[in-house]
Amino acid sequence: MTTATSTSALDKQLARFKEIQVGGTQYLDRLSDGDRKAIPLLVQVGKLIDQIYIRQLWSGNERLHAHIHSKSPRDAKLDLGLQLFKGPWGLDEEKFIESVKEAEIHIPHDPPQHGNYYPDDISKQEYSDWVASLTGQAKKEAESYYHVVKRDPATGGLKTVPYSEEYKDFLEPAAALLKQAAELVSDESLEKFLRSRAEAFLTNEYVDSDVDWLRISKESALDVTCGPYENYTDKMLSIRAAYEFYLHARDFASSAILAKFSDRLQDMEDQLPVDELYKAKGLHPPAIITVNQLYSGGDVAVPMTAAYNLPNDEAPIKIAGSKLVIIKNVQEGKFEKVLRPIAQQVLDPEQVKKVQFEAFFQHVLMHEVAHSLGPHFLVRHKETKVRSALEEYHSAMEEAKADIVGLYAVGLLLKDGTLSGGPDAESFYMTYLASAFRSIRFGITEAHGLGQAMQFEYLKEQGGFAYDAETEKFSVVMDKIEDAVRSLTTRILVLQGDGDKQKVKEFVDQYGIISPEVKQALATLEDMGVPVDVYPKYRILEDGTV
Ligand code: ZN
Repeated sequence: MTTATSTSALDKQLARFKEIQVGGTQYLDRLSDGDRKAIPLLVQVGKLIDQIYIRQLWSGNERLHAHIHSKSPRDAKLDLGLQLFKGPWGLDEEKFIESVKEAEIHIPHDPPQHGNYYPDDISKQEYSDWVASLTGQAKKEAESYYHVVKRDPATGGLKTVPYSEEYKDFLEPAAALLKQAAELVSDESLEKFLRSRAEAFLTNEYVDSDVDWLRISKESALDVTCGPYENYTDKMLSIRAAYEFYLHARDFASSAILAKFSDRLQDMEDQLPVDELYKAKGLHPPAIITVNQLYSGGDVAVPMTAAYNLPNDEAPIKIAGSKLVIIKNVQEGKFEKVLRPIAQQVLDPEQVKKVQFEAFFQHVLMHEVAHSLGPHFLVRHKETKVRSALEEYHSAMEEAKADIVGLYAVGLLLKDGTLSGGPDAESFYMTYLASAFRSIRFGITEAHGLGQAMQFEYLKEQGGFAYDAETEKFSVVMDKIEDAVRSLTTRILVLQGDGDKQKVKEFVDQYGIISPEVKQALATLEDMGVPVDVYPKYRILEDGTV
């Protein structure tokens, strides 16, 4: 055994994740026979998409995978590491496989900025000089989401190659499988998408099929997301799109709750605790669907995606908007493996009992709906967007807004009976407190973490949360929390609507902090080895049966 693997680095990476079971038979009730027959074909598509993404990540990646998979006996940990991260780098881009001398695979210390979308010897300067020299179609392709850039062996200069050519060996069989699956599925709008996406794989024209994806009916029990979307792996320019694949079963129960929220959108806006000036009229509910994941592939490495908003391409968005997909069973896995252990560590033991997945999930749904609520333009300069007025503070304020307005709105809907039969107010507040720690744990340099830190400190100052120095536990103060939430809702909406950046800065500086007690609690979570996230074990077998 000459392959040098840095076992300690890999062990450290794997220890931060807990396995969850994903996609059992309980999610298939509403599927037709045809839908079920399509599943094995779609799983095969997912595997091909995985192969494409492995190629996209780094120029040596396919050889590395082939080498590791040729080992006998197989190294289960190494297999798992590669399966989770898709390449030799884990969380925080830490390398967990050393270069393989006998196979002449040199693994760079960090994942390459240019992925495998550009020649390895390219510089950003060479790329921009080249683009500047181009016009018309050539320039368009040089800046396209769906072309790679290669070095022309004849001239030594740069040229583009369409994805349909570059990944032909995987896209052609994937297209054939999508067409076969289209023959089987029940819902016509899904059928249409599968056919047009198969076409796109061959023609490299993605707009029509993106629009078809946006128009998949909410009644379709099966849901597929499949194509080139996110551009995070092109760290050099954030242009080239990585392939990803999701197979989902629609979650009709939570769709019904979501529909309740959406139906009450204007009503909730009207009841916000701010002056009429800050309230919008004629609101449209956002396009959101809720699903349970059955299988995924491609650009879907850990930490696991629990929601995504697509497409990113402006062209289809202009025609049909965008769609948010929330993955309930992944949210539930994260809740059980990460949030519950956090609650047990940081919350008063009496209150831990009230921490519930349904409360967590309904607040997630409400958070997404609440992004539509409150001012999006300044109340005194109607043409100026809140986003452009608040600049670098906007994202954290907007996330805090969605959280707190969401919680406030849940309070309204509990009182008027809309949410009766589910979790009670105590459950919502206590679950919310536990989940604050989960977000703050990711750090306050990121919008969700900073937004959550601000809310936490403000609500604590208002007496809605308490800290017991003796037991080192946090708790919700039930007779104060409601007023505290109302006060913070007013404060954030007014800061957004007024758009005075200096005032917002003062607010963020005052509350966007990690206090010594919180710091201590976060350190305890690390010491106790509470995982950071989860990874999937798919219940779907190799042949696609469940
Ligand atoms: Zn959000």
